Order: sequence, then C-alpha cells, then structure tokens
Amino acid sequence: MNTPEFTNLEQAAVLARELDQADPLGGWRERFHIPRDDRGGEQAYFCGNSLGLQPKATRAALEADLNMWAEQAVEGHFAGPHPWMPAHEFLREPLARLVGAKPHEVVAMNSLTVNLHLMMVSFYRPEGVRRKILIEAGAFPSDRHATWSQVIFHGGDPEHDLIELAPDPDSGLLDDRRVIEAIEAHAGELALVLLPGVQYRTGQLFDIAGITATARRHGVPIGWDLAHAAGNVPLRLHEWDCDFAAWCHYKYCNSGPGAVAGCFVHERHGRVTDLRKLPRFAGWWGHDAGSRFRMGPEFHATPGADAWQLSNPPILALTPVRVATEMFAEAGMDALREKSEKMTGFLEAMVRRLLAEHVQIITPADPARRGCQLSLRITHPEHSGREVFEYLTGQGIVGDWREPDVIRVAPVPMYSRYDDCLRLVRALMDSL
Ligand SMILES: *Cc1c(COP(=O)(O)O)cnc(C)c1O
Repeated sequence: MNTPEFTNLEQAAVLARELDQADPLGGWRERFHIPRDDRGGEQAYFCGNSLGLQPKATRAALEADLNMWAEQAVEGHFAGPHPWMPAHEFLREPLARLVGAKPHEVVAMNSLTVNLHLMMVSFYRPEGVRRKILIEAGAFPSDRHATWSQVIFHGGDPEHDLIELAPDPDSGLLDDRRVIEAIEAHAGELALVLLPGVQYRTGQLFDIAGITATARRHGVPIGWDLAHAAGNVPLRLHEWDCDFAAWCHYKYCNSGPGAVAGCFVHERHGRVTDLRKLPRFAGWWGHDAGSRFRMGPEFHATPGADAWQLSNPPILALTPVRVATEMFAEAGMDALREKSEKMTGFLEAMVRRLLAEHVQIITPADPARRGCQLSLRITHPEHSGREVFEYLTGQGIVGDWREPDVIRVAPVPMYSRYDDCLRLVRALMDSL
C-alpha cells in the first residue's frame, strides 16, 4: 500500500484535495442523497457498514412500481420493463457479479437471519459423531442465536455442540491460521462451519478461500455470513467453493432499511433437486418455474439457488436491491476496491501519524485482511470513547458505536470523499 506523504494536518488537507480531484469514482457521490448535519452542511457519513445511503434512482424505480400497481394492478406481473412475476430474475446478473458466483447460484430473498436458517436446514445435518457447529466467539448475536437454536432444534446441546473460537485477547482478532487449525483439530466432530467474511466489530476480513478449502478437504460443510463483506470486498464464492453464503443488502449494498437479503448456494448443491438427497423447506416459488402455475400437488425443485425461495418476493423491497446492485455492476467491484484500499489507507495513515497517542486501530493493518471499515479505540486518559463518539456526532460526523469501546468508521468508496476522512481526523484531534 502506497502511504501518502504528509507529517501534519495541513499537508494531509492538501493531499485530501488532490486525491478527491483525481478520484476516478468521484462522480458517483452525485448519485446519492447525502444526509445533512445540524448546520445544514453535508454529513461526513461513515455508517455505510450499518445503513448505506440512498441512491437517487431508487425513488423513481419505486414510483414506477407504485404507478404500475395503481394503473394496471394484476397486469403488473407481466407488464412493463420490470414485470413482477420474474422480479428476482432481474437481480441474478448483478448479484452474481457482486459475490463472484454463477447467476443460477444466487437469489435475493427474505432477510439475512432467515436465510441462515434456511441454509442450515439443508447444510447442518448432524449425524453420528459429527454434530458440532464451529463459529467465532463474539459473533454477531443473530448468528449465534441462529446456530444455537439450530443445535437445539436438532436435539443437540449447545454447551457441547457449539464451538466458539475465541479471538486473541491482545489484538482482539482471530487469526486465519487459528481458524484453519481449529477446523483440522475438530474435523471429525464438525457438521458445519459458519463464519463472517468481515467481522462486524473489528473489520477483519477472513481468508475465505483458505478456510473454505480446509473445511472442504475435511468434508465439513461451510457457510459464510457476508453481511459486512458484500459490496465491501471482492468475492469469488463459486471459485472458492463455499457451500453456501448469505448476506444483507442494507449495509454496503445501499438497498434501504431491512432490504431483501441475498443467498448463494454452490451449483454442486443447486443441481440436486431431490429433497430426499438434499433436504430443504419448500414453497411454490422454489418449484420449477415452467410448471409452477399448473398448481399440481407435487413439488419439483427448480435447479439452482432459486429452489430455496418459498414465497413470491416483496416487490417494493426488491426494487431498491435491483437499483443498487446494478450500480455495483456498473462501477465494478475491482475499481471500488482499489479506491477503498486507498481511502482507508489514507485515513489509517492520518490516525497513525497524527493521533497515535490516543487512538488505537483494532482493524488489521494489512489491506488484504480488511475491508473499508476501521474500528477505533480511544486510549486517552481523560476522554472516554463514548465522549469522543458523541463529539463526532455533534460535528456531523456519523460513525457508530459498538459496546464496550469501539467506534466504527467506514469510508465507502462509492460515495465517501478523502475530505470526509480529513474532517473525521480533524474532529478527533479537536476532541482529544
Ligand atoms: C447485520 C448483520 C446481521 C443482521 O441480521 P438481519 O437478519 O438482517 O436482521 C446478522 N449477522 C451479521 C453478521 C450482521 O452483520
């Protein structure tokens, strides 16, 4: 990573201006609504890891749906450029590009935790001595609740059957090497590995390829929660050979609060349409599309990830996902990642050079081991992290707070500026 040259805030400010002017993706910001702060200026928004900003194109796309419903009602299933009947199909290509999958390996449906459960119905099949699920200690609560309740649902005891891998107490990070060793050590008793692509609290990006390869070598099904990875880092789910993955679209994918989530099922499973060989919960939208409306009693699974759909999708929730994921396809994940590494690197360099005494960065320093988010811990003897966080908020600088002591800030390459990073560092310096 080329670390830009500067030794004080004035030089950093000059650099920020130059970087923004030379930014090939700078124009994308115009395509988003940027929230305003109390003084009427634009916020420095670092919370895209929690709720991505609204693309301006979303409103018109939603109005088109509402107009269609008002004017043509049931005909809307077949009329217009985006008829509702095949609505999920319009998302296939952009979603496949977003996560590095084949189009028939992805589907937009439900919400994230629901998809994790549906995936575990198929891929957590405890048998004999292989009954355990490996997760990380400190997992996002919903992921722990989901795995914990799946163990109980299958008649197991989470005390024994949920292995929670603790991070290193000093760094707070969980080394890829340790995950791989744990899978190797427990392989004989594991029925599933479920891990996050990017850890929500620390911002650590796991070696998805290496960990997946280890699990696969030992015949252990592996799934990934990509809530903080989708739209943040380039993914190659097909090539990496993951069994399944699930993610939400309201964070880095800019699809709006509670947006319809995404799901990946590798084609080697999608090919299996016999539910006795690969169990799943079935509903009519997972039925073979060609014969769905013959309304017969028998279930014939459609090939691919589509077969895991239960219901016809909520159109008004799906449309923002289409708009936003098409933007990712247009901008290109590689170009976004290039800017992301540069911008997060710039923010990191400023924190290390100008704030090292009072601000610690928990997120790995190696760009290959993180996305755009940096997790900061305030180490000032007199000012608490919470105090600093509230000062930032008052200045129109929006990150978020994660108990007990972490300020998360995510410069998002599609709409953040180097100048936003400068504003953040200036405010941190003022507050400390
Ligand atoms: C954001 C997030 C969730 C949220 O789950 P929903 O089902 O979308 O409410 C779950 N897991 C992780 C790891 C997350 O980051």
